[in-house]
Amino acid sequence: MDPDIRSRLYDQHLHSHHSFDCKTPPEENVQAALKAGLAGLTFTEHFDPHPDEWKECIYDYAKCSESIRRLRDEYGDRIFIGQGIEVGYYRERLDFTLDFLAERSFDCVILSLHAIDHRLLHVRESWHGLSVAQASRCYFEHLLEAVEFARDAHRRYGTVFNVLGHLDLVKRYSRRFFNEECVTGHLPLVDRILDACIQADLTPEINTSTWRQGLTEPMPGAAILQRFVERGGAAVSLGSDAHRAEDIGANFSDALELSRSSGVRQIALFRDRVRRLVNV
Ligand SMILES: [Zn+2]
Ligand SMILES: [Zn+2]
Repeated sequence: MDPDIRSRLYDQHLHSHHSFDCKTPPEENVQAALKAGLAGLTFTEHFDPHPDEWKECIYDYAKCSESIRRLRDEYGDRIFIGQGIEVGYYRERLDFTLDFLAERSFDCVILSLHAIDHRLLHVRESWHGLSVAQASRCYFEHLLEAVEFARDAHRRYGTVFNVLGHLDLVKRYSRRFFNEECVTGHLPLVDRILDACIQADLTPEINTSTWRQGLTEPMPGAAILQRFVERGGAAVSLGSDAHRAEDIGANFSDALELSRSSGVRQIALFRDRVRRLVNV
């Protein structure tokens, strides 16, 4: 990748030991981002009020803010260090979710869906009794509900969520468990999600983690990115979803190439929830 472009980008989806599923000290992430030549990184630790996740996915705001403050003291003159959050959509705790966000400040808020109703996608048993096509349809229907919720929140309160996380996450697990996927079977539903995203001022990310997990595409892939552009979408966010420092900024060159070939011309960076666009 052109180092000039890399030096203008942030990795806007990554985790540290403040997330239950990650052991990486935050400082190692900052050092890795510096080494990768990025302009910034935004820590997006988990917040997920799903009852099976909540005890491990409580976002400890005081701890995370203190950790970011210290890193900014040490590295802030060389790199932007953002405080973000990855919010799991859970239908039964929406007021709680909105209150949590309204009372705290973040640079970037990612909205993600990790479950179909109560069924967590990463748990094999959740798929029992569902074909890949059925599970994929349920996932996208549920994601449409989540994005419509973000759109309604946007109309009522201004932008609450900035980025839509891993739009077609269902394929990561359908590939893992069944070596199949059924994303292109649901494109009319995906179109409705993309329209709601545009209305919600929600920027989809290109989540590069599936490239490290043996899939041939990031989340989402070319077909969805092209449709996003056709429907009037302009910019995407870039995120590695790194849980290890060495994965910060992973496959960003490939993501940029895919953006360009899909017609996406801008990358969105968030700071204090305000979007800035970089032409690519
Ligand atoms: Zn996620
Ligand atoms: Zn994540």
